[in-house]
Amino acid sequence: MTDSAKILQPAALDEETTLEDKAAPDEPARKQPVLDEAALDDADLDLSTLEGADAVREHKIERIAHHMRAILTTLGLDLTDHNLRETDRRVARLYLEMFHGLEEGAEPKVTTFPNEEGYSHMVMEKKMPFYSMCSHHLVPFYGHAHVAYIPNDRIIGLSKFARVLEFYAKRPQLQERLTEQVVNYLMEKLEPKGAMVVIEARHLCVEMRGVKKPGALTVTSAIRGIFHQRSVREEFLDLLRKS
Ligand code: ZN
Repeated sequence: MTDSAKILQPAALDEETTLEDKAAPDEPARKQPVLDEAALDDADLDLSTLEGADAVREHKIERIAHHMRAILTTLGLDLTDHNLRETDRRVARLYLEMFHGLEEGAEPKVTTFPNEEGYSHMVMEKKMPFYSMCSHHLVPFYGHAHVAYIPNDRIIGLSKFARVLEFYAKRPQLQERLTEQVVNYLMEKLEPKGAMVVIEARHLCVEMRGVKKPGALTVTSAIRGIFHQRSVREEFLDLLRKS
């Protein structure tokens, strides 16, 4: 086994189908007119010469659309079909939206406030919906996050939880990493006594391929500080169960 094969192995294990399954299509792929797009293959990825956010955005859309056309024609699709005519650019715009968290300046401005009331109990925001795309297959995983912390000197506006969650969700993501990133963000910004994040999600990459039953939830949790104490975790779970 070569080194590169070893590196690829974990991803390959995730695949249920092998290449052999798809080796012999019934019909040969339809020949498409060769698009004169060689220039885009070599297009400069250095965006710093582009002026303005609109120019950068348009450049990204054009590049992604170019590669999407290559994927669609490789699959043997006819791009003159009226349903596919704009698909390349639609997918490009969708990707920029779904992966908005990667954009410069996407991080939410989160202001914290002094904990003037001396509030020392659990603050919890539960059932926050999110949509993300799995890093391994670029198909959606989505569900809810439950976030709690116990403040020290700083508190945070409750609406900010959802913003932080969305910022980290809008990129190619793993559920485990999303859970860690949200809890780390709270720890860093608020320096609370502790924080806990639980995420429950459905993964279309496993459901659509029949690896898991549709509707099966994957649950991840991340715990920091005082939430390591069993009684605190139980309070979290009690609050979670209450509707
Ligand atoms: Zn996946």
